[in-house]
Amino acid sequence: MNLTVIGTGYVGLVTGACFAEMGRTVTCVDVDAGKIEGLKAGVLPIYEPGLEEIVLRNSAEDRLHFTTELPEAMQDSKVYFIAVGTPPGEDGSADLQYVLAVARQIGRHLDGYSVIVDKSTVPVGTADKVRAAVQAELDVRGVKIPFDVVSNPEFLKEGAAVADFMRPDRIIVGCESERAREIMKKLYAPFNRNRERVIYMGVKEAEMTKYAANALLATKISFMNEIANLCDLLGVDVESVREGIGSDSRIGSHFIYPGCGYGGSCFPKDVQALIRTAHARGYATPVLDAVEARNAAQKQVLFQKLSRRFGSDLRGHTFAVWGLAFKPGTDDLREAPARVLIEALLNAGASVRAYDPVAMDAARKEWPAAWFEAGRLSLAAHQYEALEGADALVLVTEWKPFRHPDFAAMKRLLKAPIILDGRNQYDPEELQPLGFEYEGIGRGLAL
Ligand code: NAD
Repeated sequence: MNLTVIGTGYVGLVTGACFAEMGRTVTCVDVDAGKIEGLKAGVLPIYEPGLEEIVLRNSAEDRLHFTTELPEAMQDSKVYFIAVGTPPGEDGSADLQYVLAVARQIGRHLDGYSVIVDKSTVPVGTADKVRAAVQAELDVRGVKIPFDVVSNPEFLKEGAAVADFMRPDRIIVGCESERAREIMKKLYAPFNRNRERVIYMGVKEAEMTKYAANALLATKISFMNEIANLCDLLGVDVESVREGIGSDSRIGSHFIYPGCGYGGSCFPKDVQALIRTAHARGYATPVLDAVEARNAAQKQVLFQKLSRRFGSDLRGHTFAVWGLAFKPGTDDLREAPARVLIEALLNAGASVRAYDPVAMDAARKEWPAAWFEAGRLSLAAHQYEALEGADALVLVTEWKPFRHPDFAAMKRLLKAPIILDGRNQYDPEELQPLGFEYEGIGRGLAL
């Protein structure tokens, strides 16, 4: 059973590579010819720990292929994973144009029973739209070909995508036919050997599960950020509170870390899309609205703290920023809190010297040229170089090399020993005797 994976982004490339690693023959398809040329030459378009090795090995062993031609890929396969982007449309709802374009293309070339798997995150009812789009093409061709549409949302985390795909907490399969269910069961069997990880349900339930999961995780983060901001006002250290509540097994310790807001390509757009889905049914979503509003406000918190400390006119000031990616382990800058901070600092007249262990190339390519012009935003060659002569360090992404830095060297390099810690990585009691001024998120210590 050969596979076709359509879309070679974070989800598609990881899906294709991991199935190939388990012995399947997989063809990955993308409309971006540059990506496909790169992949054919062994150059990956994204950074994910462990991914390059799997892609190169499986390409060399002839199990993983890349093409821009979907019809060609479809010839040898009867299972098509749709893993293209579903970005927010103008009103925040999920833009399905890429998913439906793929569905129409599949319909134009389908030539025998096939399973079409929605892996992209798509609103409830999308499988029906995919089915209708494929069927419309079959009708135009005047052929009758049976096919099933399955919802198999992906739960991998960027930065740990390969590990998550290989050892998933659970695999959700929304499926309404026994034939398709058997195929999905076989496909996922190698990922499922130690314990049953596949949860079968209806297609719409699977579509909703993905949104409910991301919305709940976003809710935990926004809730904790609100508590942290209150802790700041009350002189309470939120880190003790976090440990205290996390020890309750009903609450759990995951996703209650305060910080400078969630970013990335999933939480912001998925919360928005769920809100739009509800509004389209005339249903109000005060909880989800608040999650979004808190997050937007939280992305301003680092700038607000700096303006309180240095004044609102920051001309003549330079700030070092550690971490650009929206989280450690990835080069993804989509909706990253660093973006909001840097823009606000530049608007207030400051200069920024930034460093990220992996996302520097992505920043150079993706961020507005105006940010780099006149040297107001520069990228340092090393984490310590970013500190030279800076008025303060702002930690935005908690990459491992930032967790236990050389504080003595930092003190020498910074103009003033001031650290604003957007991820509560440092211990104020360790920094104080070293002569640092320190502020985190909700540590009850105002700069
Ligand atoms: P991405 O933007 O990294 O990649 C999407 C790819 O699809 C691009 O390479 C694009 O060129 C390609 N594409 C677009 N139209 C195409 C077409 N007609 N034919 C072939 N290729 C086409 O996106 P991503 O981050 O991998 O996300 C894909 C989906 O998975 C989204 O719905 C997202 O919400 C969901 N998802 C993402 C993550 C994540 O962490 N990134 C996790 C779970 C689910």
